Amino acid sequence: MRKLELHWQILIGMLLGIVFGFVMTQVDWGQGFVSDWIQPLGTIFVKLLKLIAIPLIIASLVKGISDLKDISKFRDIGLRTIGIYIVTTVVAITIGLILVNVLRPGDGISEDTVTKLTETYASDAGVTSKLEEASRQKDSGPLQFLVDMVPDNALAAMTDNSLMLQVIFFTIFLGISMLLIGEEKAKPLKNFFDSLNYVVLKMVDLIMLSAPYAVFALLAGVVVSSSDPDLLLALLKYTGVVVGGLLLMIVFYAIVVSTFTKKNPFWFLKEISPAQLLAFSTSSSAATLPVTMERVEEHIGVDKEVSSFVLPVGATINMDGTSLYQGVAAVFISQALGFDLSFADQLTIVLTALLASIGSAAVPGAGMVMLVIVLEAIGFPADKLAIGLALIFAVDRPLDMCRTIVNVTGDATVSMVVAKSVGKLGEPRVEDWDDHWDEV
Ligand code: ASP
Repeated sequence: MRKLELHWQILIGMLLGIVFGFVMTQVDWGQGFVSDWIQPLGTIFVKLLKLIAIPLIIASLVKGISDLKDISKFRDIGLRTIGIYIVTTVVAITIGLILVNVLRPGDGISEDTVTKLTETYASDAGVTSKLEEASRQKDSGPLQFLVDMVPDNALAAMTDNSLMLQVIFFTIFLGISMLLIGEEKAKPLKNFFDSLNYVVLKMVDLIMLSAPYAVFALLAGVVVSSSDPDLLLALLKYTGVVVGGLLLMIVFYAIVVSTFTKKNPFWFLKEISPAQLLAFSTSSSAATLPVTMERVEEHIGVDKEVSSFVLPVGATINMDGTSLYQGVAAVFISQALGFDLSFADQLTIVLTALLASIGSAAVPGAGMVMLVIVLEAIGFPADKLAIGLALIFAVDRPLDMCRTIVNVTGDATVSMVVAKSVGKLGEPRVEDWDDHWDEV
């Protein structure tokens, strides 16, 4: 019998997880049974994905760079990548700002709801920890992000997933130096990294065998810890604006793919869908990265020389979904609390949300930390920040899940466009996941 395609398996796992979580909440088993016995399975899966992220980045980036015959090509890939990332992020923020200004979801929210949300969340540990983290991040100078990119200890950088940019810096340095010493001398090291690359990709395959079960556990966990449905309903219009904007971004990517790469956008979305579904289930582009890389390289046909640079860098600095959400949230909060925004304020939002999405970590909830910095940039009163966050906290997790899909899809789209522009978009190596599956 033909096996169900991977994205269907994952989707079924997700739906069953949601239903299961809902039933468990009804019978009051949510916090006990699900969080003690089911959720840990999802956590193990996310840990496994994170476990292989750094070895995968190193192996694939070294292979990518050392396969380049001409080093100037790498500079070309780098410049194009950063340029296109900035353009897509600005498009995302603009879509968000247009929608939130036209539909004005913050106007319809009643005083009662604001009071109820403030009472429930303003002093919640989740909100206070985000405010504290934002104030830590704000204390650094303007060039701090460059300083942070350079490691002083390569091994220490490799032991911390949040230091991915440092690992990328070290690996590019290593790869370029390997190119410079010449093929003969670099050969043993290159063979080692080539082989490591194959092994790590196989590890991704093996981990993915458990994906349908893991997403079941992850989503059951999300459902049992979700907020009061009444509060979710009160924020329906705001949620609708963010989700609508995110959907428009997916349409934008489809148009970009068909215009710039001449590939069928539906095929692209189908091939990338396992990564999107995992982005939704884990709310983390960093945890999804190994799967995004595998899909883009093996199933879409982007050469490693491009994907091994574009995707890890994108996971850390390119977050279109997050910046769209930050634009909408900042204006929504201002509307709901009667804080007027001028046109200059809106431009400030574009600029700070662009920088904030670069600064946001690729982990759950990071976008909300940087939202504080966007709010501060438009002069939002400091004593009202906790209230502002309280207004949107109830729906932050589901929106985080949705914006992470867009973050991952954006990275994949840009990798295709860059690959096409430098003649590195080939044919997929694995036609059908099932063939690959049977090799496992
Ligand atoms: N969870 C998002 C990501 O990992 C970041 C955020 O928007 O909070 O891409």
